[in-house]
This record gives sequence, C-alpha cells and structure tokens, in this order.
Amino acid sequence: MLTARQVVLIPTAEQEKVFRQYADTARFAYNFAKKISDTYFAYTGESLTLNDLQKTFTVIKQTKAYGWLKDVNAQVPKLAARDYDKARKASFKNKGHSFGTNFKSKRKTAPKFRVEQFSFFKCDKKEINITSIGKVRTSRRLPRTKKLRNLRIQFNGVNWVMSYSFEHEVDRPSELSEKVIGIDDGLSSLVTCSNGMEFDSVRFSDKYKRHEKLKTQYARQMSKRYQKHNQKGKPQSKRYVKAKDAHARHSKKMSDMRSTYNHQVSRAILNTMPKAVVVEDKSLKFMIKNPKQAKAVMSQGINQLMRFLEYKAESQGTIFQKAPRGFASSKICHCCGYKYNDMDYEIPWGLAVREWVCVGCGAVHDRDFNAAKNLEYCFKEVI
Ligand SMILES: [Zn+2]
Repeated sequence: MLTARQVVLIPTAEQEKVFRQYADTARFAYNFAKKISDTYFAYTGESLTLNDLQKTFTVIKQTKAYGWLKDVNAQVPKLAARDYDKARKASFKNKGHSFGTNFKSKRKTAPKFRVEQFSFFKCDKKEINITSIGKVRTSRRLPRTKKLRNLRIQFNGVNWVMSYSFEHEVDRPSELSEKVIGIDDGLSSLVTCSNGMEFDSVRFSDKYKRHEKLKTQYARQMSKRYQKHNQKGKPQSKRYVKAKDAHARHSKKMSDMRSTYNHQVSRAILNTMPKAVVVEDKSLKFMIKNPKQAKAVMSQGINQLMRFLEYKAESQGTIFQKAPRGFASSKICHCCGYKYNDMDYEIPWGLAVREWVCVGCGAVHDRDFNAAKNLEYCFKEVI
C-alpha cells in the first residue's frame, strides 16, 4: 500500500531563496510547456510528446533570454513539464482537447516544485540532502529503510513542507469483529454511528471559533490595506504583508485542527474493529450549492474524513462500502421499513425534521441515528 507523509523543512535564509527560485522556475516551465503545447496543437492538430516538451528547456537554456535557467537544477523544469503532461492527459480524457488546463498564476498558486534524486544523509540526524541545494534540516526523522517517491516541496503559507510517499506492507490483524457500522454524516454533529458513537463538529469548539474570528479580522485588514492602483512591479506595503501572513497562519491552524480531529475520529471508529463500515455516497458539489449549508459542509472536511476512513479501513482489513446514490437513509424507518410520507405528517420532509415518530410501528427516531442504522443494514456482502 502506498502511504503519503509530510515533513516540515527548516531551511536557512539562503536555502529559502533557492526554494523560491526553484518554485518560480517550476511555474514558468509549466506555463511555458502549456503555451507551446497549445500552439502546436492549434496549428497541427497533434500533440507534442512529453519528451519534446522536456527537450525544449535544454534548447532555450542556450539563448540569452532564458540563460537564467542554467542556475536552476535541470530536473525542476523537466518535472514541471511532466506535471503539465499529466494535466493535459486528464483534459484530453474529459474534453477531447488540452485547453481544459489552466496557466498557473503567480498570485494564486502556492510556490511548489519537484526534485528527484534525493540522497539521504545519516538518518539519525534530522536532515536530508537535496540535489543542488544541500543539507536541509527537517522537523523529524525520515524513514530510514524505505524508498521514497513523489517528492514535492511546497510552501503552505506558514512553512516549507516536503511530501513523499512510500510502499509499505499491510499487516492485517485477524481479530475483526462481526459488526458492521453505518456512518451518517450530519451538519449539527460531524458523524453519528450505528453503534451509538457520536462525534461533535470541531467547528463548534472555542479554539476553532477564536481562529475563525481572527481570520475574518485579518481578511478585513488585508482588504483595507490592499493597494489596487499600485505601480506595476511595486510590492504591497509591509502592513499588508503582515496582515496576509497572520491570515495565512490562522487558516493553517484551522485546517490543521480539522485534519487532526478527523484523524482522531476515524481512528476511534475503526478501533472498534468492525468487519465493515458503510457510508453515504454524497455529492458535495450538490450540497454546497445551498448557501445555508455551504459553510458548514466545507468547514467540517467531510470528504477528508471519508478519505481517512477509507485508507485506514483498508490497512486493517475492514471493508469500506458506499451506499447506493440517492438511498434515502434518514427517511426510512429502520425497524419496519416504512418510508416517511409527507401526507402522514404535518411537517413536510426537510432538514428541519430532527426527530419523527414512525406511523407504521410507532418507533421514535432520531434522524441521524436512524440514518446510520439504515446504512448498517444496507451493507452487502461482496463475494
Ligand atoms: Zn417503523
């Protein structure tokens, strides 16, 4: 199984400069590759191969205008071109042409680049040796015996981080129970499980709210201090940059809190060692169209939680299953199978119905728990 990890890098001021230079080069190379690929396609109707794209950088390096490329590791533009090639293929698959890809904007994209051929120094020290940059300190030790792949370095607004992945053996425990857990994700609470477990949403915690408030405050400061008619090339004021950094810091804290919490929740559910977990197959795209729900949905990171559940379940041998699309999990009575009919009740079905009494058997249902139970029952044994 392929596992992905991140480690925080602690570069010196000089190294950080090189990182920025490499990231700029990667962005330039991506855009350059897109430009020549699109032009070629528009004239000939055929695509330039990846090899051709990569060779271009070797050629233009010799010209005066692009001579600065010689200062950068030759792998950086080539790997950026490979990234573009991947995006181009996806665009071809979906739309039949390569114009579905976008140029990377300097303002909007996070600085990032790829360098291959890493060699590791003594691993008991917290450092790595990056080709043509040198030894960079890391926040923790890297795996000693694993072969690392997909190495990417990027700036997340607060720190420079390196992400990597490695192959690792799955050691499946045999003591899985016969239980199946249905998991219903809600808006008032994060998830409700059919075995009675319930997890509140992290967005209601005081710490999260405090960061949210400060983030809004700094966003307002940023907009006040932003100089729209700034002369071209002139940087924004120091006060603007200060507010921007603070804004990024609080955004990062919030997203860290979310992912930590989601890790804890997914681990707690799977630590009960169920045979299978069943979740709803929801379209988030559809859900965030409702402006009242959008913020709640996005700030919970439900997709992230599902991703964590899926890979953690796989690594311990639990089956991860999605209920069929459009399965009305909260409308059906899990005791007798009656389906909520608007004709039988005063209030028509909607998000406001938190609790209801079944007409068929008289059972009182909590909306979320009932949905979780139904999800549990819809588990299908795959042979
Ligand atoms: Zn019933």
